[in-house]
Amino acid sequence: MEEKSVAIDGPSGAGKSTLARMAARRFGLIHVDTGALYRCVGLHALRSGVASKDADGVAALLPCIDIEMRHDGAGVQRMYINGSDVTGDIRLPETSIYASDVSALPPVRAFLLDMQKEMANKYNVIMDGRDIGTVVMPCAGLKIFLTAPPEIRAGRRYRELLSGEVETTFDEVLRDIELRDKNDSSRAAAPLTVAGDAVVVDTTRIGLDESFDLLCSIISERLRL
Ligand code: C5P
Repeated sequence: MEEKSVAIDGPSGAGKSTLARMAARRFGLIHVDTGALYRCVGLHALRSGVASKDADGVAALLPCIDIEMRHDGAGVQRMYINGSDVTGDIRLPETSIYASDVSALPPVRAFLLDMQKEMANKYNVIMDGRDIGTVVMPCAGLKIFLTAPPEIRAGRRYRELLSGEVETTFDEVLRDIELRDKNDSSRAAAPLTVAGDAVVVDTTRIGLDESFDLLCSIISERLRL
């Protein structure tokens, strides 16, 4: 299935999930937002009172977490931990840094890799994350690396959080993005890097509609969809 699938990687707030969801609808692919999986592990650790950098403590939680990903009729991905819908809770700002911390732990990555590989083997997917083109789907038919400077990404994320009525400030969002960029790029396990055969798309000067048109034209051309 990988040859008809798309891997989208890039730093936090680059617009990967929004664009992947739109492209999935256009091309009839299953959208898999892998950040949501790391957010589930982070949220579970947070709720269990285990520090996000406590490698042994987080590893001990893994056998007790049943993470489920379901797609509703509109193709929207919903996330469940042990049967409870946590789709909204995993987006809260306090969960973001927890997700970033637990994602650096090798047992967490190994735990979630099987699930991602299973999805990639079963369906034609458009999967977004940090290591999709390098680790999860090294044979993806198309790899995109979506990027923009931290200030631009923070501005977009800030407006998105405000419209969702989450209370925060631009500076807080920028700090979170810079910290997660540092964590994601410097960790030893599956760090965020550009796959050698990825198409780099810089969205600094283009808005959502233009980015979507560009992404669609690359997908149509490369995957002949
Ligand atoms: O994409 P999102 O910001 O929701 O991801 C949450 C966190 O999960 C990221 O900060 C990153 O540390 C981690 N992540 C990862 N590998 C992926 C997807 C997300 O390490 N494939």
